[in-house]
Formats: sequence, C-alpha cells, structure tokens
Amino acid sequence: MKTKIAPKELWYGSCSYWTDDWDKLNVPDGQIEVTGPGGVKTKVRTGVPLCPVCGAPGFVAPVDEWMKGAQRFEDEGHPRYVEFLNANKETCLPRGFLTSYKMWIASQPVTG
Ligand SMILES: [Zn+2]
Repeated sequence: MKTKIAPKELWYGSCSYWTDDWDKLNVPDGQIEVTGPGGVKTKVRTGVPLCPVCGAPGFVAPVDEWMKGAQRFEDEGHPRYVEFLNANKETCLPRGFLTSYKMWIASQPVTG
C-alpha cells in the first residue's frame, strides 16, 4: 500500500485548477538554453508544472497559508467559499476563482 505524506505546498493555476497532489500536474520535459561562465551554453530542464487540462502555468503556495487565505476571504462576506474550493479541487476553471465562485454560489439551492 502506497502511503502519501500530507503535502506542505499546493499548486494553483492561472486557470484556477488547484491540487495538493503534484502527480496530477502536467510537467513537460522542456529545456532552455543558458549561458554559463566563459560563455558556455548548456541546456537546462525547466519542468515547470502546468494545469493538466489546459496547460496554464501556475503558482506554488503553502497549504496552510492558502487555506487560511480562503477562510479569511469567506469570513469577509463570501459565504461557502472554502466549500466551493474543495468542491472544485482539480477542476480547470478558466473563468478564474472569483467568477467561478459567483457562478457556483448562484447555482446552489437556497437552504435555511
Ligand atoms: Zn487549466
């Protein structure tokens, strides 16, 4: 049985795809040429993680900080924002977090 260690960092794309499972990201075997000391050119692997759905680049964030930020955003008048994030984990949302959130909350049945 494979045991996963809880990751300390997560990845979120400019398309709002987010995951803490780095194996799910598309990491192309890209190369760039760099010029080192003495003008020697060498190829270096980039391996920048990309959204596996649309190929958008993204950002790395500490899990704790990112989740605290989401909770803070919810507390500032965006009900169920954390639930929205969890419901849309590993989902490519090219409209972005805020627009997708507004659409999601509008589609939810009214309770209470
Ligand atoms: Zn995407």
